[in-house]
Amino acid sequence: MNIPFGHQQLHNRYCFEGELELVTALRISSGNASDETDAPFIRTFDKTPYIPGSSLRGAIRSEVERILASVGKATAGLQSCTLFEKDCCAEKARKFLHEFDKDERNQDIHEKNTKNERIAAFAEKELCDVCKLFGSTVYASRLTIEDALPVGMEGKEIPTHVRDGVGIDRDTGAAKDGAKFDYEVIEPVKNSLAFLLKMKAENVTDNDKKLLNLILSLLKHGLHVGGKRAGGLGEIKLREVAKKFYKVTGFEDPNSLWAAITRGKEIHNSIEWKEGVLC
Ligand SMILES: [Zn+2]
Repeated sequence: MNIPFGHQQLHNRYCFEGELELVTALRISSGNASDETDAPFIRTFDKTPYIPGSSLRGAIRSEVERILASVGKATAGLQSCTLFEKDCCAEKARKFLHEFDKDERNQDIHEKNTKNERIAAFAEKELCDVCKLFGSTVYASRLTIEDALPVGMEGKEIPTHVRDGVGIDRDTGAAKDGAKFDYEVIEPVKNSLAFLLKMKAENVTDNDKKLLNLILSLLKHGLHVGGKRAGGLGEIKLREVAKKFYKVTGFEDPNSLWAAITRGKEIHNSIEWKEGVLC
């Protein structure tokens, strides 16, 4: 189906939910030292450790970009820009906004109503497939990833550990003589501790479906998030629950959304998601 690009209309919504288990210990620091450690694990106001949606999103996006950049559009059927290219999306957006500002100063007030349409038209034509879904400096993301809270440990304490590290000299990147640094990690608890993944995509096109399948595949096979990745920390993967790695709910067209609303029914229903081949 041909879904109009952008945010202005609401055509479909897919909500993915799954449990991310830890394969290795996870380090995501809060940024503020405590009495116990230099780098405590990030926690909510009620002291529950969690994986920030932004950390998941960053790890997923960079892996998707690396894969697509190396495979290429001809093979993957999807395009990704990289920040090191001269004509990456960020650079195109910078030029577009520069021209846009110049035009806008010359325009009469009524024409300014078309601002959103002009930005959407630019995004549809010029941005790569990854920036179209994950967003860019000119265009908001159509993919939301929530903070992942722990599940499966009800009534039990989530095991944490303070590990010794080495202080790093910011100028040279080398270990600093005599500098001690420690950090808190969450340890994996097999078949018990997991973090709840909640990911939502709207106005999903056929290309977005391919990207979402790539994301789900990466999450099924394992992905690294947080700090000390080079040391092997932070490997997470989707856990199989009742023969499924994730469930999908939502609506696939505006008419079924409207029918549900007018009949007072639940607007998010179970969706049979087709993984199929990526391309
Ligand atoms: Zn891009």
